[in-house]
Amino acid sequence: MAAVLMRFVPCSLGPAVVPRSLSFSSSAAVRAVSLSTTKPLPERVKIVEVGPRDGLQNEKTIVPAEVKIRLIDMLSEAGLPVIEATSFVSPKWVPQMADQEEVMRGIQRKPGVNYPVLTPNLKGYRAAVTAGAKEVAIFGAASELFSKKNINCSVEESLQRFEEVMKAAKQEGIPVRGYISCVLGCPYEGKVSPVKVAEVAKRLYSMGCYEISLGDTIGVGTPGGMAEMLEAVKKEVPIHALAVHCHDTYGQALANILVALQNGVSVVDSSVAGLGGCPYAQGASGNVATEDVIYMLNGLGIHTTL
Ligand SMILES: [Zn+2]
Repeated sequence: MAAVLMRFVPCSLGPAVVPRSLSFSSSAAVRAVSLSTTKPLPERVKIVEVGPRDGLQNEKTIVPAEVKIRLIDMLSEAGLPVIEATSFVSPKWVPQMADQEEVMRGIQRKPGVNYPVLTPNLKGYRAAVTAGAKEVAIFGAASELFSKKNINCSVEESLQRFEEVMKAAKQEGIPVRGYISCVLGCPYEGKVSPVKVAEVAKRLYSMGCYEISLGDTIGVGTPGGMAEMLEAVKKEVPIHALAVHCHDTYGQALANILVALQNGVSVVDSSVAGLGGCPYAQGASGNVATEDVIYMLNGLGIHTTL
């Protein structure tokens, strides 16, 4: 699928700024991690395209709604099965997503393609459903400091806030995806405990999220960290319900994804042309590029079609 995904919108991000507070390479921290190559890879991988939301929300220049609509339509024409279309956050938080309703109403919905949207609260959820959203996503962090600085509450409080969204979604039969940010490192805390990631993942799963996307929001993860984190999370959430969401700050994204595949993960988030970053995590470079993930999966003989 998607033999050619054009670099539709140039990435305007400057060179990645290395978060200096992070240091995972001191000799004390170095230890051997076993990365078995004998584990079977999944036969099929679902790509969740996050470019129109996660990618564009970091662009300083406001992209017109018609360009976003065209981008989403081109992505669906390319054969992508899931395209995160926009976010129903307040335009005060993310001005780039102020046109969320126009985008939802303007896209050509291709049969079989999902167009989930991010909903930070019940108000956003209601607006999303009214605009035609058939799937929504909520988010929590694995880092207390990131949660405090980002949304001014603890991780637990942030999850409680989503309970009313979960309740409404359940009543209306709307599937909910859960995101966890900073699973392999935090710009404020540094290393994040795999046990903490597993706890948050378990919480989101038991709240009713059908899929949990584990986000290396600032792209500091390495294959060793990914293996260790997944080992912990797999104990709490079935592997079929896990996705990985890798940023490429240190060029580790494809290697991290490969390790996730070896661990049985079969859902991968990516962003066309590697668009993205994180407005709250300075120095985070783009998401892994969809075309690069597909190139790797094709090379491994893994199916990605609908
Ligand atoms: Zn991301």
